[in-house]
Amino acid sequence: MFESLQDRLEGAFKNLKGEGRITDLNIASTIKEIRRALVDADVNYKIAKEFTDVVREKAQGEKVINAISPGQLMVKIVKDELVSLMGGEVAEFNSKGAPAVILIAGLQGSGKTTFSGKLASFLKNQKKLSPLLVAADVYRPAAMEQLRVLGGQIGVDVHIEEENKNPVEIAQNAIREARSKNKNVVIIDTAGRLAVDEAMMTEVANIKSAVNPNEILFVVDSMTGQDAVNTAKAFNDRLDFSGVVLTKLDGDTRGGAALSIKYTVNKPIKFISSGEKLDTIDIFYPERMAQRILG
Ligand code: GDP
Repeated sequence: MFESLQDRLEGAFKNLKGEGRITDLNIASTIKEIRRALVDADVNYKIAKEFTDVVREKAQGEKVINAISPGQLMVKIVKDELVSLMGGEVAEFNSKGAPAVILIAGLQGSGKTTFSGKLASFLKNQKKLSPLLVAADVYRPAAMEQLRVLGGQIGVDVHIEEENKNPVEIAQNAIREARSKNKNVVIIDTAGRLAVDEAMMTEVANIKSAVNPNEILFVVDSMTGQDAVNTAKAFNDRLDFSGVVLTKLDGDTRGGAALSIKYTVNKPIKFISSGEKLDTIDIFYPERMAQRILG
């Protein structure tokens, strides 16, 4: 693991004691240090550079008061800026409808199916909703089976049509089933591929047009670093999604992908997933992620 940015900043300012103000001169090496630490935390280099330009501007002229060391002051400026760039507040999640429709999209292996189960469990237990899970991956029978098992574990019904190869029809049928069974939220788990591909995008876009979702959540593996940003951009260009889900935050990542993605596509991160167990889902708090990036 890397030395935390917080420690590095506090160390980098040892020489500043007694200078009174943060100036261009005494901040240069620290800015470099922040940039390096952000890149280590998986923030895209270009974004880290733009970020530090803003931090430099904010820091210049700041008075160093006795109660707080220059390093601590820089930590605060960086943290506030991280929080603000990641949206500041907790993003809204729209689950109102009869039923509300939530479309889950992302690459294969990103954690879509696992997250679909977690979200269903979260909405059932925390929001007291009655979810229906939908297996709309018609290419991998194993994905259908995985969702069936997850549904069983959390006590949520799963809509499966093994013989139907048309995901749009499956989604529409599922919404009909939800209405007839008084389910108030439908979570559609779509097919993914190992890389962004036109056929997959068209398929998800077709489901979107047919079911007019309340939320389209783009699921991305936080361990994929820089690739996460390109994937997010490709999905957003086609789907104009409403929020991001960052998965596998239990892994060895500082979570800088959160900053890069928000910066690049300007869509809020709504949930995080941090484990294989079904209760490891959380609402995204910019403040907590900023602290994690700082280390
Ligand atoms: P999908 O292909 O996008 O539906 O991805 P899956 O939900 O099948 O997940 C792919 C793999 O990642 C599985 O082995 C999951 O158990 C694992 N996985 C999913 N989410 C997480 C997570 O938050 N943390 C960890 N450690 N593993 C996860």
